Amino acid sequence: MYDIIIVGAGPAGLTSALYALRAGKKVLVLEAKTYGGQIINAHNVENYPGITSISGFDFATSLYNQVKALGLEYKNETVIKIDENKTLVTNKGNYEAKAIILATGAENRKLNLQNEKALTGKGISYCATCDGNFYKNKIVAVAGGGNTALEDAIYLSNIAEKVYLIHRRDEFRGEQKYVEELNKKENVEFILNTNIVNLNGNDKLESIDIKDNTGNINTLNINGLFIAVGQEPKNEIFSNIINIDKSGYIKSDDGVHTNVQGIYVAGDARVKDLRQLTTAVSDGSIAATTAIKEM
Ligand code: NAP
Repeated sequence: MYDIIIVGAGPAGLTSALYALRAGKKVLVLEAKTYGGQIINAHNVENYPGITSISGFDFATSLYNQVKALGLEYKNETVIKIDENKTLVTNKGNYEAKAIILATGAENRKLNLQNEKALTGKGISYCATCDGNFYKNKIVAVAGGGNTALEDAIYLSNIAEKVYLIHRRDEFRGEQKYVEELNKKENVEFILNTNIVNLNGNDKLESIDIKDNTGNINTLNINGLFIAVGQEPKNEIFSNIINIDKSGYIKSDDGVHTNVQGIYVAGDARVKDLRQLTTAVSDGSIAATTAIKEM
């Protein structure tokens, strides 16, 4: 019996572990992949208070080592479900705890194009706030039509020389106020009814091929592509007992409790407005301290 089991070893999960271990609790972290979550892919983190610049890998490794040094028990196992008795079932065993923190994160949806993975961090990014500053006076494109894509385009228009906003339909899913703001920007060009079909470049992104809905294909020379086509949380496995919204995020009235007593949520996995490193670690510390208080 553990005091706290944390599902997910991204910044939210590891910060929960940090606080719980420092409070003297017996803690297990279960992670299906590797520690670090999404931040491990960030080329450079420059918006974490107090740290001018650090690679996502170095940040995650430093946090992991910090927690490991406190005696963290860490298992590389895939959680399959939480049953009605709050037993965590993984691909390798069953675990019980007084409290469970779900810090399963969310993955950026991919375009699933050839080269996408190879060019990530080399011209392709999923986070304008993290990487936008590398494109000062350069030419960039944003893919997507939701609020994230619109906000990314606004953000990048203040940094880059030119921003193409490429969306597969002629209507944006995001809010009109952002569309109006973008319409006023001289360096922003909308490319609608268009899909990106090829990512070109070997060591770095050089251009993209785009295809409109009449079948015309054009090549666009760009320095950076920001893909903002939504997020994919992975919480369906908990839906037998945990309330999740229609997009798959865990619902929480106060940002920490789920609908089940003793099960908490932290980080990108929950319904929230701002998914950033800073808010993930904030969630992690709050989830752990709340769980300990209520144990
Ligand atoms: P989203 O609202 O799900 O939008 C995803 C966009 O990507 C849609 O326009 C979609 O096109 C497009 N898309 C999806 N798959 C694609 C593909 N394979 N190829 C090309 N385009 C694709 O995601 P989001 O913008 O990340 O926002 C997520 C949630 O957070 C939303 O509820 C949003 O309102 C909220 N959010 C709010 C704020 C804010 O209030 N300030 C800021 C950011 C995000 P279609 O439209 O054609 O489906």
